[in-house]
Amino acid sequence: MTPAAGRGPAAAGLPEIGVATMGGTIVMLRGEDSGLTPALDAAELVAGIPELAGRAEVRGTVISHVGSPSIRFDDVISTLRWSLRTVDEGATGIVVTHGTDTLEETAFLLDLWWDRSEPVVVTGAMRSPEESGADGPANLLGAVLTVLEPESRGRGALVVMNDEVFPSDSVTKTRSFGVDAFASPYGALGRICEAEVEYDRAPGGPRPAPLPVPEGDAWVPIVAAPLGEDGRVVDALLDAGVDGLVIDGVGAGHVPERMVAAVDRAARRVPVVMATRTRRGRTGRNTYGYPGAEIDLLQRGVLMAGRLTSIQSRLLLWSLLASGVRDHDAVRGEFDRRGR
Ligand code: ASP
Repeated sequence: MTPAAGRGPAAAGLPEIGVATMGGTIVMLRGEDSGLTPALDAAELVAGIPELAGRAEVRGTVISHVGSPSIRFDDVISTLRWSLRTVDEGATGIVVTHGTDTLEETAFLLDLWWDRSEPVVVTGAMRSPEESGADGPANLLGAVLTVLEPESRGRGALVVMNDEVFPSDSVTKTRSFGVDAFASPYGALGRICEAEVEYDRAPGGPRPAPLPVPEGDAWVPIVAAPLGEDGRVVDALLDAGVDGLVIDGVGAGHVPERMVAAVDRAARRVPVVMATRTRRGRTGRNTYGYPGAEIDLLQRGVLMAGRLTSIQSRLLLWSLLASGVRDHDAVRGEFDRRGR
């Protein structure tokens, strides 16, 4: 691992790394008669990792001190803006520490908007700092090593958990407990071994152009489409004023026939995106022709999410709508580019 050299205020000494903390188990301590709540800041986190000394200078900030289900879009945008400022002032890259419940969502959003070659690496912990075998220090060290690794440049936002480096466009939390909770159906990009980051593959071509950072807001709920569902939820959401809709479809992106009329009504008014709840592989284009299958839905103007999950599709559609991108072809273009 070669420390990046020659940039910014830390050029004379160690490379500088920004560490933004956003809450989560990695900073949580147990109160006297209550459960875990956020307590530590970036400096306290870093102080628990002696291996960092001699590798990097850390500039820290606390963005939020919450459990990650309560992270808001504004918090992610604040993290983005602080991170951009920090790399512009010379940092080699950014580590974001985050609760694991929604970690993949913040990583996905940061990746949509990140327009620098410096890495932004999101990490967290499945065990709190006071538990035996706490994984936060190792994950934080792994994230710092990943930022310092020159091969991490140009890869956008990454996720480091349990000594594995994941792409932010496919990693998900797959277990409620356990240090190996994170996985990608398409595999990790690399791993951390003996304090070195080893990538298995080079970046697969240029990243899609970053999206504008939203100035506004939009309401984009996700609707499930399980066996026996009809269209009442879709109609109710339409009446309530949604700006867009994501459907967590079955199989290759299908809904029950009884939902079709409502989905059709929705697609005439707002962008409707169909994802597959299988979490692996992409939505169909031209295989199934029954009512509620992809050929029927495409003809009704429904957009296909490709391999983006419904969670990712909601974030992408939110980002587009909240920055004023409403044109059907422009929205479809982004899903085609990112869902491949
Ligand atoms: N279980 C969570 C975590 O691992 C809590 C949260 O997401 O904030 O951090």
